[in-house]
Amino acid sequence: MTDQLPPNRRSPAARALTAPAAEGRFVLQHCNVCGTVQYPPQEFCTGCLSLDLGWKDTSRDGQLVAEAEIHHSLEPAFGPDLPMRTGLVRHESGVTLVAFLDDTCRVGAGVRLELALDRGGAAIVKASVR
Ligand SMILES: [Zn+2]
Repeated sequence: MTDQLPPNRRSPAARALTAPAAEGRFVLQHCNVCGTVQYPPQEFCTGCLSLDLGWKDTSRDGQLVAEAEIHHSLEPAFGPDLPMRTGLVRHESGVTLVAFLDDTCRVGAGVRLELALDRGGAAIVKASVR
């Protein structure tokens, strides 16, 4: 076990995911004007450029479209977790999220997403088989 914390670089918009993650909720940023779901979190809507964005509890369902097993990291904090699996999950809203995968996730499978806090207290996305 390392005493180093995982990278904690997050945009101000992405830091808004911390509280919902701590509460066990799954939220995504939505535009209050056109409804476009934003991921990663944005300062303005990628659909209509509105600044009127908000957070909504959202479906946790997606499909794993790519996976990678990481055996080496330049981040010392990840050392004890290697090898670890990450992947791209296409959420049913159409956005694609980077997620940490459990051992059962395979490309093409339906997955359930969750927000969690890493050892440093930053929000991360995890996926497991539905
Ligand atoms: Zn919009």
